[in-house]
Amino acid sequence: MTRRLKTVQDVGEFPLIERLKTLCGSSASVVCGIGDDCAVVQPPRGRLLLFKTDMVVEHVHFTRRSAPEQVGHKAMGRPLSDIAAMAGEARCAVVAIAMPARTSIRYVDGLYRGMHECAAMFGVDIVGGDTSRASQIMMTVSVLGNVTRARCVYRSGAKPGDGIYVTGVLGGTILRKHVSFVPRIKESQWLAHHVRPSAMIDISDGFVQDIGHILEASGVGAEIDVATIPISQDASRCAGGNANKALHSALYDGEDFELLFTVPREREKRLAQWSCAWSIPCTRVGTITEDKKLRDTKGHVIPQKGYVHFLCG
Ligand code: ADP
Ligand code: MG
Repeated sequence: MTRRLKTVQDVGEFPLIERLKTLCGSSASVVCGIGDDCAVVQPPRGRLLLFKTDMVVEHVHFTRRSAPEQVGHKAMGRPLSDIAAMAGEARCAVVAIAMPARTSIRYVDGLYRGMHECAAMFGVDIVGGDTSRASQIMMTVSVLGNVTRARCVYRSGAKPGDGIYVTGVLGGTILRKHVSFVPRIKESQWLAHHVRPSAMIDISDGFVQDIGHILEASGVGAEIDVATIPISQDASRCAGGNANKALHSALYDGEDFELLFTVPREREKRLAQWSCAWSIPCTRVGTITEDKKLRDTKGHVIPQKGYVHFLCG
């Protein structure tokens, strides 16, 4: 006879939290983690704090078709990607989770394993959270990070003449990358140290939309050489080998979680060292212009269409 899978209702809230605590781990920099009314952490001396929260909702950001470990990975990876976009280091996270009472313990364990695994890659501790009942699974991960004032990179610093760069390859994320991306925290630390980008953002809503945020915040435009856009194999696969469709996917799909950044001309040569440090590509895709439009090299305006995530679904 097989026993019914244990649910969160069978276990109860406080034993559940105790169980999750064992899946989180904790490092020495945490004065007090899960178990008191608040987590207590030592702020790093002389640094600015970065604070970001991000939500994943069942049926919106994920479905039960993805393994819970992947969903947990995604929930943690999204706010970490935002910390990377400011050139920050991430320190600790709190996790609010709401779920139906019938959710299996095995599923929740998987979510926490995925979150912990992603957090641990960057030395991030899960130090607290909140637990509630809801009709569908929702998770909110809030991350505390830090950065020195001089290293923090905003969206607003791009200037005409700056080179525009993108890490990794773009598009086709629906196949797997949206639940398996690696937040570019380490790469952005390297960039802040070696290259000092003038502006930076992580690509969550698609290249075109997200470069639009840099252009607007900086009061500039851009000329993009679309032939240089690094297209992922998954984008080509989704497009069934149709090159135009694959390019469209790379330009407009969301959830790449790559870094998009600009570099003043005099510092661009420092990027020659990139390939010695990292195995993912870093590609120059265009130049910032004074004319406040997004254009291709023929001068045509690149349309700011919304994302077409399910084109290849
Ligand atoms: P309070 O009643 O004071 O709001 P809770 O009972 O919600 O506290 O939480 C008790 C402890 O467990 C706190 O340290 C809190 O941060 C932690 N916690 C609660 N839910 C979670 C969760 N889903 N993940 C991680 N930590 C949690
Ligand atoms: Mg309390």
